[in-house]
Amino acid sequence: MTKQCKQCSKEFKVTDADLEFYKKVSPTISGEVLEIPAPTLCPECRIQRRFTFRNERKLYSNKCHSCQKPIVTIYAPNSPYQPYCQACWYSDKWDGVSFAMDYEPNKPFLEQFKDLMLKVPRLAVMSPNNENSEYINGATGNKDCYLIFVSDHNENCAYSEKILNCLDVFDSTDCEKCDYSYQLNGCTGCSRSQYLIDCHNTNDSKFCFDCRGCNDCFLCTGLRQKQFCIENQQLSETDYRKRIAELDPHTQKSNDENMAKLLKLKKNMPHSFIHGNKNENCSGDYINNCKDSHDCYESHYLENAKFSIAGNRAKDIYDCYVPVDDTDLVLESVSMSNLHSSAFTFACYNGCRNLYYSEYMDGCHNCFGCSGLKKKEFCILNKQYTEEEYNKLVAQIIESMKSTGAWGEYFPISLSPYGYNETVANSYFPLTNEEALKIGGKWQDQDFAPNYGGEFYIPHEKIEEYVSSASECDKLLGSAIKCSTSGKPFRITKQELTFYMKQLIPIPTKHYDERFAERLVLRNAYKVYHRECMNDGCTNEFDTTYAEDRPEKILCEKCYQRIVS
Ligand SMILES: [Zn+2]
Ligand SMILES: [Zn+2]
Ligand SMILES: [Zn+2]
Repeated sequence: MTKQCKQCSKEFKVTDADLEFYKKVSPTISGEVLEIPAPTLCPECRIQRRFTFRNERKLYSNKCHSCQKPIVTIYAPNSPYQPYCQACWYSDKWDGVSFAMDYEPNKPFLEQFKDLMLKVPRLAVMSPNNENSEYINGATGNKDCYLIFVSDHNENCAYSEKILNCLDVFDSTDCEKCDYSYQLNGCTGCSRSQYLIDCHNTNDSKFCFDCRGCNDCFLCTGLRQKQFCIENQQLSETDYRKRIAELDPHTQKSNDENMAKLLKLKKNMPHSFIHGNKNENCSGDYINNCKDSHDCYESHYLENAKFSIAGNRAKDIYDCYVPVDDTDLVLESVSMSNLHSSAFTFACYNGCRNLYYSEYMDGCHNCFGCSGLKKKEFCILNKQYTEEEYNKLVAQIIESMKSTGAWGEYFPISLSPYGYNETVANSYFPLTNEEALKIGGKWQDQDFAPNYGGEFYIPHEKIEEYVSSASECDKLLGSAIKCSTSGKPFRITKQELTFYMKQLIPIPTKHYDERFAERLVLRNAYKVYHRECMNDGCTNEFDTTYAEDRPEKILCEKCYQRIVS
């Protein structure tokens, strides 16, 4: 069936397989299936709504609302919510059921849930088990990392997002197993490289796109197993090194110019319709080892998934953001691991099952509208019921939610604990203050960044100036730089300066938010278009994230393999 999105009015399709899935994931209460209806928002508006529940990158200094110690948190000092430090949140000194509320039949259920959210402690940041990495979020198993987000098992990395198993990687997006590198985007297995886009197993290279197994390449596109190439021209090692010394003086200006050059070369290169490997019957982008999954992005090992992002090992899921660790049969949920047979949840993990409209749940079963419970079952608004009472009341609540149109929808944007501009929604679907309020969002008006009253420092063009002068290093570390784009002040950390000096990278002149935004525009939106291969004579069709009006030549897998590889 074709439906019209309630928010943006665009038409979208709901297939028979989709309807079957909604039925399969619907709760069975007292032997009766209480069906979840087809969505009323288009896939993109649903992504946007889910994204408003993730403040990934905006960190504040605040205090733990339990032990009062200073903490770094995703809740601004003016937030009405109760952030707890990791130690307090995971401790036994509080129990979610102590916040239990009675269900009031005459009040919309999700309004009551919102009241509960305001009372129950919330994790200051979503980053367990890290070492010396206070300023990170959505991240686990990291050591000596700073301002990395949605990133696991990295060491000495900073200013990056969606990086996995990386060492000494700065300013990068969506990379795996890379080291000693800077400004990588969509790369795996790359070493000692800078400014690479969609490259794999490529070392000692700069400003390259879609290169594989290459070494010592500069401004190259679509090369395989090559060495000593500049703009795809094969040179001798001596000539290569001589030319590189002229082409690459390691200044911000030359880096910007070479990057602009690369983007021009990239535009004229044929592109594969998808980034990914070892997929079977899949669509989306940046996916690997997936099967029967559609409209999925930045994911590994998904099966029978749809409209899902940043997943790893999940099956039978729709509309999930960060579903990991054997999650299965889940609809519209955000941040989950090992979650089963559930819908409309946030941060549920550790074997939870049959949860609806719940958040921050650890090992719970059969709960509805709950927050911050550990190993509980048959709870509603954190209140304990018998199984019989639970079933009866859940059926009643679902009936009432049906009458207001809330049943079958994710938490409304108005329940997000953050300002729209604090969330990842604003990175992918930027709105003005007024536009955000119009769709039910809030807006964070205050900045809370520490005031900088000193004089701004203007970095030297050449990093060598710092390598040879300890007093220059001190001056740089002791002051702030004014972002050349946004005017926002930012500081250079010692860890960062050491990295730049080792890799001969000029001191950045833009704030890390601007650098993040620049990497983000290199990636396509989370949306697929049905198109035909643009190679002459080929009529293969596919779903691709490249829209019809894009200038690039988009090829089917066969044509791409023949022409580029
Ligand atoms: Zn829409
Ligand atoms: Zn605490
Ligand atoms: Zn083709």
